[in-house]
Amino acid sequence: MQNKFQVNVIASGSKGNSSIIVAGNTALLIDAGISCKRILAGIKACGLEPGDLSGVLLTHEHIDHVAGLPVLSRKTGLPIYANEKTWAAMPKRSEISRESIRVLPRNFTLGNIKIEAFKISHDAADPVGYSLFCGKDKCTYLTDCGFLTDSCIEAVKNAGTLILEANHDVEMLKHGSYPIMLQNRILGRKGHLSNEMAGSLLVGLDCLPQEVFLAHLSHENNRPQLAFDTIDEMLKKADTKETVELYVTRQDIMVSNMDRRLQDE
Ligand SMILES: [Zn+2]
Ligand SMILES: [Zn+2]
Repeated sequence: MQNKFQVNVIASGSKGNSSIIVAGNTALLIDAGISCKRILAGIKACGLEPGDLSGVLLTHEHIDHVAGLPVLSRKTGLPIYANEKTWAAMPKRSEISRESIRVLPRNFTLGNIKIEAFKISHDAADPVGYSLFCGKDKCTYLTDCGFLTDSCIEAVKNAGTLILEANHDVEMLKHGSYPIMLQNRILGRKGHLSNEMAGSLLVGLDCLPQEVFLAHLSHENNRPQLAFDTIDEMLKKADTKETVELYVTRQDIMVSNMDRRLQDE
């Protein structure tokens, strides 16, 4: 049985992140770190209107996750959910339409998607990942995470669909152009997950997701093929029972599980 969640990653990477997640007749946007124009084009490409979305969930206030919010809030009036500390640290908060601002409850439901936020380790005010539930199906969103806490591992368990950070290749980062301070930030406990860390998380699971979207790839310190090969190889070596459909998300093209699903039907 196919997981109910339809994932459409409009953009993902160090230059901007935004995804549309659909289950049944409910659609949500996670993060809005690209222009409103691109988000609206992404919504249209999914066959939706902005009014079909139930809301926007924010992971944290870094600009690559929130850049499009002021215009998006004014143009669509969609409710935008973030926790209090994230709102307090939000850049250009005064430009975001007041009617859109909502404080994120720990657990809540929008349409037929139940939403649970979980804390992640990253250098932002109060960053979170999300587990979404629709019936028995689960989809987890985990990016911008330097260190895998127990709550992250718990959140990933039993997710049929997973959006997982594979930010960098450690060797590329260490031999790349980034100054040492920035390298240490990325490699630190409040930085980003490497390809190897993402792979280790997957092979450590009792039950693998059916689909994994490798996300938030660094433009400088990773390559789509390298992220794919590193994690694919780790999965093959682990000789797991289940097969995983691996997608590599991009900065400039929408990556979706819809086309593949239509082919399978
Ligand atoms: Zn961040
Ligand atoms: Zn980010």
